[in-house]
Amino acid sequence: MSKGTILIVDDEISNIEIMNAVLEEDYEVCFATSGREALEVVKTAQPDLVLLDVLMPGIDGFEVCRRLKADPLLTDIPVIFTTGLGDTEDEMRGLSLGAIDYVTKPVQPAILRRRVGNHVELKRLRDQLATMAVTDALTGLSNRRHLERSLDLEAARLARTGDWLSVVMLDIDFFKQFNDTYGHPAGDRCIMMVAAALVRAVKRATDLPARYGGEEFACILPGLDAAGAEMVANDIRLQIQSLNIPHEGSQVSPYITVSIGVASARCTPQAASDRWIAEADRQLYVSKQRGRDRISVTQFDHEAVRRRA
Ligand code: GH3
Ligand code: MG
Ligand code: MG
Repeated sequence: MSKGTILIVDDEISNIEIMNAVLEEDYEVCFATSGREALEVVKTAQPDLVLLDVLMPGIDGFEVCRRLKADPLLTDIPVIFTTGLGDTEDEMRGLSLGAIDYVTKPVQPAILRRRVGNHVELKRLRDQLATMAVTDALTGLSNRRHLERSLDLEAARLARTGDWLSVVMLDIDFFKQFNDTYGHPAGDRCIMMVAAALVRAVKRATDLPARYGGEEFACILPGLDAAGAEMVANDIRLQIQSLNIPHEGSQVSPYITVSIGVASARCTPQAASDRWIAEADRQLYVSKQRGRDRISVTQFDHEAVRRRA
């Protein structure tokens, strides 16, 4: 496991030296000697914890803390204030600004080591939980909750420029039969291999492949229209085909195949993100109806439905 990183912020070099001596064995330690510098370093170092002096010229510790907690990318970094002995009011104010703890100066090495250790460990567990909450355990892909949240965010982001967004849904053909023939553990391995094939087919950083549930997968393709999304869907189909996973029970192929639905629309401020899922799901159903192992595509218009409604 990698060492945690601690950022020590203090305008007194001697304080930094004392704290560094306590922590350098167990952590990567970086420093800042002013509030302004702290706000720079915290972005590049992405520390697991900040030890923050309250009294500094210029931007003081309270203001640094307030800005960290206001930034969605930095708010999860725990802050421990380092205050002079007996500054109860400072401690209260620091805690109310979102600091997780405080230590008093001059620091007691054993206490500093223990408090920092506890909070770094808690941060590690929180990060782990946050990752688990958005990840599918079997495949390591994003889970349905994460897909839906990301779709909301992407649709809102692209609404500013009226750009295209597509959603691809896919479902393994005759998968119940696969489990019945080869057993559930083999079914799980098949799902993992299909997930890996999906990841190979969607290459752009903003594309989001996910396990939607069971043997169903979905993928958000921001910026792609129906023609572009159909090409990606075709790549997905080819990647899964080239796995050559035998499937005796399938009525369409001796190997594992998928049915795919694609839905594309321009993003508008009124666009409801679940429309993409519903339309892609409908196209997936069309692919099943037409004989499976194929792709069906729709391009829809958010306004058209609103006018009809
Ligand atoms: P269709 O071609 O119409 O999609 O038929 P199908 O058999 O794939 O569809 P159906 O929805 O009837 O069955 C899906 C099967 O997928 C049933 C379920 O046992 C299996 N399944 C869902 N999740 C998992 C999983 O995590 N592991 C395994 N091994 N099987 C799963
Ligand atoms: Mg299914
Ligand atoms: Mg299926």
